[in-house]
Amino acid sequence: MKNAKLVAKSDLEQQTIVRLSQTVAFGGTDLVIIGGPCTVESREQMEQVAQKLSVAPIHGLRGGVYKPRTSPYAFQGMGKAGLQILAGVRSHYNMPVVTEVMSIDQIADVATHADMLQVGSRNMQNFDLLKALGSAGKPILLKRGLAATIEEFVMAAEYILSHGNPDVVLCERGIRSFDNYTRNVLDLGAVAALKQITHLPVIVDPSHAVGKRELVAPLAKAAVACGADGLIIECHPEPEKSVSDARQALSLEDMVNLVESLKPVAAAVGRNISNTVGVGLETTPPHFYLGRTKDRNRHDACWQQV
Ligand code: PEP
Ligand code: MN
Repeated sequence: MKNAKLVAKSDLEQQTIVRLSQTVAFGGTDLVIIGGPCTVESREQMEQVAQKLSVAPIHGLRGGVYKPRTSPYAFQGMGKAGLQILAGVRSHYNMPVVTEVMSIDQIADVATHADMLQVGSRNMQNFDLLKALGSAGKPILLKRGLAATIEEFVMAAEYILSHGNPDVVLCERGIRSFDNYTRNVLDLGAVAALKQITHLPVIVDPSHAVGKRELVAPLAKAAVACGADGLIIECHPEPEKSVSDARQALSLEDMVNLVESLKPVAAAVGRNISNTVGVGLETTPPHFYLGRTKDRNRHDACWQQV
């Protein structure tokens, strides 16, 4: 992958650390677990989620306010009102939040309210969006396209880095295949390959990969076992009532239990799930690189805030 000048590893030990808050970072020994609903539906819903998850070893909250829906008639997200809700639970529960940005004109607002900006699968090759995220000033969670090759995925990340933002976390979320028993096929081979090819952290979204709540836990375990740096999992106070992706949503209790059950798997592969709660939130976007001095020559922008 010789065109991935900034994203490809230059040596086996090179590993970028992407920080979500002062105490939570992707790419180190500690795994990062993010949980929350597919869609932000109300303040009460997000309060319930944050209350339960903030006392468990869960390190960040998710919730979409700009939703890419297959049908134009389906709920498209709360927009700005949802961002206010996220900002409220973020500061009240001292938990960083991740939410999706679908277009360039949403970036400034989302970057003001959230700690990390998600690029959804459907936008993985929205090149103008990727370029604009180069100057978002916040870390980016880049999800793999529905039918994107590993190379296309890596090159999408390259767009963001080459436009000035070194804080990119890759997310494998399942790819399309012929079988429709599961929603998608979780490509754990890609996780292992990406860990070898790139120095960026790689996390897994088992929820969108499998699409059925009873199959989320085994995939989450497999993801940790094969070297993922974290997980993003959908959960809801009343899973069956979720306005989107209800079939794959875990209850909050199942979410907490799942994370507990991951601890021995993490330990077996030399990783840790930190019990840190009430993490310090950043006011400015942090990032730093672990790597050899020679890598400093690769891309000056990557080092500006070291
Ligand atoms: C989501 O995270 O809710 C989502 C829409 O994910 P994806 O882009 O992976 O389908
Ligand atoms: Mn979803």
